[in-house]
Amino acid sequence: MPAPRLLINVAELQREPGGSKHVVDAVDATDVDAAHPAISGPVGVDVTIESTVGDLLLHGTIDVPWLGVCRRCLEPLARTLHVEVDERYSEDPAHVESGEAAPVVRGQIDLRDLVRDEVLLALDAEQVCRPDCAGLCPTCGHNLNDGPCGCDAPAVDDRWSALDALRVADETPDQDPDPRS
Ligand SMILES: [Zn+2]
Ligand SMILES: [Zn+2]
Repeated sequence: MPAPRLLINVAELQREPGGSKHVVDAVDATDVDAAHPAISGPVGVDVTIESTVGDLLLHGTIDVPWLGVCRRCLEPLARTLHVEVDERYSEDPAHVESGEAAPVVRGQIDLRDLVRDEVLLALDAEQVCRPDCAGLCPTCGHNLNDGPCGCDAPAVDDRWSALDALRVADETPDQDPDPRS
């Protein structure tokens, strides 16, 4: 039976402080129990594990290919979510119990928990097509990135309140707007 993916043998590394191990892999989201319809391909893992006198320090990146929609305008989006990871692994139960380190078990570290947590966090983050996406008109659903739709603007919109103020100022000098009435 093949060893589970992302189960990394670090026994040798622990015996050589100063040494490091580079792990590059691409796993299916189901391998880390993070299956999600928005994940559109293998999850890339590229991390370096460094051996210190005490613990092991891991740092690197996780790449999640993602297919979804902008949460404001609902346009389809395809992008790779890029996650930086930093973790400490320890054989010292005190470090593990205090939460400052994940465990080294029988000379192995299991990266699946880390990858699953980071993937799920990344999927949770709201994605927008661009930081200033104008979103959809709440009345007609028109994509406001394509220009105004002509609907009556909602009263809460400050841009329109400013325009209303201008209109009032315009009308003020004209005390009798329609003398024929
Ligand atoms: Zn958008
Ligand atoms: Zn509209």
